[in-house]
Amino acid sequence: MYQKYTGIILKKYPVNEADELLTIYTREAGKMRVMARGTHKILSKLAGSLQSLNEIEFETARRSAGGGLPVLISVRPRAINNYLRENLKKFAYALVGVETLYRLSPDGQTNSRAYESLVSFLERLGRGAEENLQVRMFQLELLGISGFRLETDQCWSCSSRFLGRALFIAEKGGIFCGRCFEYGQPDLFLGEAELRELKLLNSGRAVSRLLPAVGTVIDGFLKYVLERDIKSNRFLQTLNS
Ligand SMILES: [Zn+2]
Repeated sequence: MYQKYTGIILKKYPVNEADELLTIYTREAGKMRVMARGTHKILSKLAGSLQSLNEIEFETARRSAGGGLPVLISVRPRAINNYLRENLKKFAYALVGVETLYRLSPDGQTNSRAYESLVSFLERLGRGAEENLQVRMFQLELLGISGFRLETDQCWSCSSRFLGRALFIAEKGGIFCGRCFEYGQPDLFLGEAELRELKLLNSGRAVSRLLPAVGTVIDGFLKYVLERDIKSNRFLQTLNS
């Protein structure tokens, strides 16, 4: 059985001598794993297309008996995102975004909004200078699309509007008003500026200067949802220090 897809390569992993296991985020079927046989020999002329972060059109064959992963049989490049690999800083931010998508997406679950969001994120990352802002907006958008919207309008516990100040409690996965303080030890106090910025970003609007607390809230919330850290953050921190 042959299937056609359009997708962006998230990850590559060598297997055996000459094969590669690709994780591709596709428009048609969400996150899927595909085996590229003999990438280094038969498909070597396509190796340029099979770099991570590229958008490709591809065809797979699946053996009807015994299951197994679909095997890549043809590839056509759509967008070769070399500029991301040539600029280490942009590449590091791209990895943080891609890992967030990877972790939030179950295998084989179609989500065309997440796909469009990924395409748009990689484009903006290539074009603009505000990598940190772009990745934060992408992460919040993905959380919303995946059904884990961060509540930034009202207290996560009592639903009352925030009056100037609020508290972020990572282990409770939310932002709380002062009256609900006893529910846990706050990781961070948020003032009006931070709350306003979080609201704007959460509704897909850019801000002029990203406040450090906003990044801390997003990382903390992602950790709560995913029950793990985004590993690529460490690469980014090494690069920035
Ligand atoms: Zn409250």
